Amino acid sequence: MKIKLTLLFCLIANLVFAQDSIFARRIVDTLTSRYFWGRGYTNNGMGKAAHFITSEFKSFGLQPMAGKSFTQEFEFPVNAFPGKMQVSINGKALAPGRDFIVGPESKSVKAACNLVQRDSVTYVNAESKIILVLKDKLTWSVAKQVADYTLIQVDKKVLREPPAAINLNIENKFISDFKTGNICAWVKGTVKPDSIVVFTGHHDHLGGMGSDTYFPGANDNASGMAMLLSLAKYYAAHPQPYTVAFICFAGEEAGILGSKYFTEHPLIPLSNIKLLINMDIMGTGNDGITVVNATVYPKYFDLLKQVNARGNYLVKINPRGKAANSDHYWFTEKGVPALFMYTMGGIKAYHDVFDISKTLPLTEFRNLFKLLVQFNAELQNP
Ligand SMILES: [Zn+2]
Repeated sequence: MKIKLTLLFCLIANLVFAQDSIFARRIVDTLTSRYFWGRGYTNNGMGKAAHFITSEFKSFGLQPMAGKSFTQEFEFPVNAFPGKMQVSINGKALAPGRDFIVGPESKSVKAACNLVQRDSVTYVNAESKIILVLKDKLTWSVAKQVADYTLIQVDKKVLREPPAAINLNIENKFISDFKTGNICAWVKGTVKPDSIVVFTGHHDHLGGMGSDTYFPGANDNASGMAMLLSLAKYYAAHPQPYTVAFICFAGEEAGILGSKYFTEHPLIPLSNIKLLINMDIMGTGNDGITVVNATVYPKYFDLLKQVNARGNYLVKINPRGKAANSDHYWFTEKGVPALFMYTMGGIKAYHDVFDISKTLPLTEFRNLFKLLVQFNAELQNP
């Protein structure tokens, strides 16, 4: 009978985790769809993402952090590209995102002119203030200001001859007070509610470049939102001794702005945070994960490694030192223990139009979820 019960338990556990994988894929598919427009600065993409996450939190039964609204509003300046996005080189029209990207700080320009070579990869037209740079890989980002030039980065592979003539029509729109918000929720602890474990990740991505092209950001960071929402759903059904909190930051891609705002205007005493776990790029894991701040908080890193070894979840957990490369950073600077985890291996797409759900494997998603749940349990019951 006992064996049968154990078997039944294993089957149910596997079913639960299988459903978790389906749930995760649904979240990644949803957040990378056209409707969310890359969760950025045009077509209300970021606002739609925030609204979707809030309604998921509500449907799981989470409470807004500190009894306030789920949204912590803030604003910042940003340079956006809602309109024209046309570039032809030597008479050949290039595809936005695939063949070229516009420098995020670029201003509007409409011109047809010649280019003069400056070095092996740089071509300019001084009069129209156009700079063209040839790249091996196109990697986009977000700027908070506008430059007095237009930068076009072109994938080297699409040009047969050196760029001599350019015809372009680019429209930027500077937004001095782009309004957005961090989404903050929690499941109150049953024994020590003032001790808080916080899971974080950013819900924004790069948004759209022109009226036809958007950056889906499947790995960065729809995958992190899928993990965070999976954990939120789990903990809403399984409250822990400590409070388990969730923060989905906005404006990460514009310079980790949401987490900076939260640490400057905390909704909870930062000293109550036992540990913060930031999740950004959760979509692969073939080569394990890397943990930023591992060497700053060796006690937590060692526990994570022990839990992983016991459960045989991931092939490798790489330690890394301090790095200002995601939303954990400002918390570390305020003295809050924080680890940042990202998956290793698999696809190479990053900050480009190829970071899509279809090619995102979610290889170790289930194992990573199990590792985090077990790690959190042992954090609270040493
Ligand atoms: Zn990211």
